Amino acid sequence: MATRVLIGALRKTTSRLPTCRFLSVSPVSRFASTLVIAEHEGGSIKAPSLSAVEAAKSLDKDNSISMLLAGSGHSLQEAAANAVSCHPSVSKVLVADSDRFIHPLAEPWAKLIQLVQQRENFSHIVVASGSFGKNILPRAAALLDVSPVTDVIGISESTTFVRPIYAGNALCTVRYTGAHPCMLTIRSTSFQVQPYSTDSKAHKAPISQVDLSTFEEADTIGKSQYVKLTSQDSERPDLGNSRIVVTGGRGLKSAENFKMLEKLAEKLGAAVGATRAAVDAGFVPNDLQVGQTGKIVAPELYMAFGVSGAIQHLAGMRDSKVIVAVNRDADAPIFQVADYGLVGDLFEVIPELLEKLPEKK
Ligand code: FAD
Repeated sequence: MATRVLIGALRKTTSRLPTCRFLSVSPVSRFASTLVIAEHEGGSIKAPSLSAVEAAKSLDKDNSISMLLAGSGHSLQEAAANAVSCHPSVSKVLVADSDRFIHPLAEPWAKLIQLVQQRENFSHIVVASGSFGKNILPRAAALLDVSPVTDVIGISESTTFVRPIYAGNALCTVRYTGAHPCMLTIRSTSFQVQPYSTDSKAHKAPISQVDLSTFEEADTIGKSQYVKLTSQDSERPDLGNSRIVVTGGRGLKSAENFKMLEKLAEKLGAAVGATRAAVDAGFVPNDLQVGQTGKIVAPELYMAFGVSGAIQHLAGMRDSKVIVAVNRDADAPIFQVADYGLVGDLFEVIPELLEKLPEKK
């Protein structure tokens, strides 16, 4: 009975098409040329890097956009082959092929960006605001002696940007007045990639190899060292890109109880998220954390179970299209942002949902 409203919300939201939240764009500069630093994995360009291209497109209608890929071996070659037609606005793909760039360490990547910038003199350098970009861009900006503008969510001119402040509770419009290049990290959830026509899919940007002959070995010896990557093998969608996210908070009480949420995610084809309190308590690994110091998500449907709705958590999910919250405390702040709220015990609501929802085909 209590879950009827939630199932109704699920039906409505999962069939709805995503809406795009662009701010209006009025280009001023006729000479923008942008370098997008792209992240790739398994031979594919990651979705947030395509959002970075979309953001670059908003800088200037005549913007010439180059994409930088680095790494080595088969995976890089495959990524380059995919990059040439990954987005119709990419006019050139720069490929830096060296073992030094296999891991996303800030020191060699920042040096690479500096080298490419010195040769090509881009007006803007853009990267998605994930851990890859947030690691590399500040160091590259320091080498190029400019101040980056971070977490951009809107572009109104080639030097005027909107970014959240106070954990997303206020939006600030800033104008960049520094020297070239203007360096940006952008929130991929604010720059959704537009569907493009079959004709544009036939577009192929030329590939240009970055000459690394002046890239000295000493440049790669930094203060950080790659140790290992630990990630969970999961069939579930990636938290950052999933259409549905099911998040658990401290109200779940244990790692064991989180399994209930994982089952729900499986039925819905959703990604699992968590609050920092749930992560700190060891219920789930910290790469599932949503919020100011975790991942920023904006799925079509965000379901929060046993989440109080602290501002630091809301900063990571308040742009979700539809928010559903289940909390036994009617005064929990999460209800202030929820489109559908249910005051109830999650230990009753989740089993009821699991029982009523059909198996995923
Ligand atoms: P709580 O606040 O403890 O809330 C648990 C909720 O569960 C309560 O509302 C309770 O009513 C409900 N509940 C309990 N049992 C049940 C039940 N059986 N059924 C239904 N409901 C139940 N937090 C983040 O999430 N992400 C961040 O990135 C983040 N960054 C931070 C950065 C800084 C600098 C700081 C200071 C804090 C940050 N935090 C972040 C922490 C944040 O302030 C909160 O402490 C955290 O979000 C609370 O998590 P929670 O809602 O799971 O826990």
